[in-house]
Amino acid sequence: MKSFVQKTSKNIERCLCLTCPSYSHECKLKNAEQNTSCATSKLQNRTHYEKMFCAFEKSNCIHTDKGCLCNKCLNFKEYDLSNCTYCLHTGGGRLCRL
Ligand code: SF4
Ligand code: SF4
Repeated sequence: MKSFVQKTSKNIERCLCLTCPSYSHECKLKNAEQNTSCATSKLQNRTHYEKMFCAFEKSNCIHTDKGCLCNKCLNFKEYDLSNCTYCLHTGGGRLCRL
């Protein structure tokens, strides 16, 4: 049975979104401060965060699919995910094949 990706520091460290071609330079600059401070206690009640989009809603600044790394991520395997492009579509977009 699938379970929701937990909003933990461990899972955030696994996230590959910041190295993904779809994560634009402008978006990285805009979110630099937020993305370097990830206290788990503050994340639990948030619906928005600018990475680990499989656990949060879609991005506010990624707009184009230039490829997705989700199927190479440990969270993808551990949580039995099947979609890609969570940054563009809350809950995941196109199917992500291994
Ligand atoms: S969800 Fe996929 S496409 Fe979006 S930034 Fe993360 S790895 Fe890239
Ligand atoms: S599956 Fe994708 S969105 Fe989720 S943590 Fe991994 S790289 Fe980030």
